[in-house]
Amino acid sequence: MPQTHAIYAHTGEDVLSSVFQQLDVDDDRLFNITMTFLHEMWDGLNNYGHDMAMIPTFVRSIPDGSEKGTFLALDLGGTNLRVCEVNLHGDKTFSLRQQKYKVSDALKTGEATTLFDYLADSVDAFLTDSGSPNCALPPSLARRNLAEVSDEEDVPYIPLGLTFSFPVEQTALDSGKLLTWTKGFAAKNAIGNDVVKLLQDAFDRKNMHVRCVALVNDTVGALLSRAYTSGGCILGAIFGTGTNGAYVEDMASISKLGRSAAVKEGNLMVVNTEWGGFNNSRSALPSTPYDNKVDRESINPGKQAFEKFISGMYLGEITRNVIVSLIDAAPKPLLFSGHSSKQLNKQWGVDTAVLSEVEEAWEGIGRFAPEDTGSTAEKLEHIRDVIIKRMELPPDSVSLNDADVVRKICTHIAWRAARLSSCAVAAVLFQTGRARLTRGGEETKNTAPLVDEGKRIGVGVDGSLVEHYPYFEKKLRASLRVLVGEDVERRVDIGLAKDGSGVGAALCALVAYRQNMVKQYHTVYEH
Ligand code: BGC
Repeated sequence: MPQTHAIYAHTGEDVLSSVFQQLDVDDDRLFNITMTFLHEMWDGLNNYGHDMAMIPTFVRSIPDGSEKGTFLALDLGGTNLRVCEVNLHGDKTFSLRQQKYKVSDALKTGEATTLFDYLADSVDAFLTDSGSPNCALPPSLARRNLAEVSDEEDVPYIPLGLTFSFPVEQTALDSGKLLTWTKGFAAKNAIGNDVVKLLQDAFDRKNMHVRCVALVNDTVGALLSRAYTSGGCILGAIFGTGTNGAYVEDMASISKLGRSAAVKEGNLMVVNTEWGGFNNSRSALPSTPYDNKVDRESINPGKQAFEKFISGMYLGEITRNVIVSLIDAAPKPLLFSGHSSKQLNKQWGVDTAVLSEVEEAWEGIGRFAPEDTGSTAEKLEHIRDVIIKRMELPPDSVSLNDADVVRKICTHIAWRAARLSSCAVAAVLFQTGRARLTRGGEETKNTAPLVDEGKRIGVGVDGSLVEHYPYFEKKLRASLRVLVGEDVERRVDIGLAKDGSGVGAALCALVAYRQNMVKQYHTVYEH
């Protein structure tokens, strides 16, 4: 075991505290970011073409748990592609059968038709595996079920809801143009095209009896599925590979929809904020050189600024940048005695899961009994093991002090992500009249009565960070309390919208069926 060596030499200590200081976001900053967030929300609600796109989704009814039916759902947007068959039981419960398929980098960055052919092939494989050669209706998709939700006598195709988790400017429940790719996708000839048509063309090329009847973002899926299982929800948010939120807005506030009978006060519509694109100018976000490097080397520089501070795709890379800068520090290395590794030198070489493991080790999660959380030395030993293994460093180059420094870096980066996430949640609560913003415990002047005062505020969340990162929600809540006060924060009921993408797509497919919304919305909202 190498001896702990003193890296806190005078200059080193200064450098380290400056790094941590840069990664801190104080309460004033948090408040300012939230105010800027609100302004960008308003810009997006008023006009098309803003980075925070505030996309009307044409979803106007929120489930209450009584919905019934069996639908196919296809989910593209995270690490995997998933095909699922969702059975909504009509009593707030559902059952789901799913299959995951890998999406290679070649597919992500190749021709769009190749990607969409692959999506269609995956649906085909799923249907074939469920015992339905040639894509006839599989036995589990009984026509009886479909008839329950449709006026039509018979349905010659399988209705499918598509969860497509990228910024798509919707023009109807079943059509929308891709605005931009995010999260490492860059397939050619897709931007500007209708993604439902791209998928439907792929089904048709293969003579499959599948019809894409609804298009949803994963945040909308999270909102709808949480509403289905819990009886009410106003915000669906994803903190995973990417980040984003969708919330229930008064249509009168979505002024870019123009004036029509439907666009009046009291009529509701779910808005997909695309908050990953908040503050691309970085005027309010606390950018450090480590963040700038992540952005500059990403596939979409200058875009998705907020997402790059928060989501699972980027936290590991920010951490890697900080670590490498400390290895290279002059006049004397501040980590690993100046050793680096192939893994550390490679872009994306540190996965966000590594931060999770480090923090789990520090918190003693899964290692010690709750009453015995282990000594500091034991925890640092464990963190050192994680570093050696995951960063592929020679064991004798990693000291316990190194482990402690890495631990602090991870904690700072995760705290910052959670604090920034709370700004987005607070802004939605404020925008929907459920909270007043507080600054240093003092309320802003607005004294209008709160909407649903005293009631539970349902929030559905999903994604790897919120599901697996130690205490992410707890950290987010702590900052939310600063912004909206204790009373409101206590009423925010954050629940995991497990399988939200599948269930949400199924619920939307059902809505499309029930209300024949497509035709109706085309006439009301064409722009
Ligand atoms: C996309 C959003 C999506 C979010 C979470 C972002 O990169 O732009 O549409 O909801 O990731 O998956």
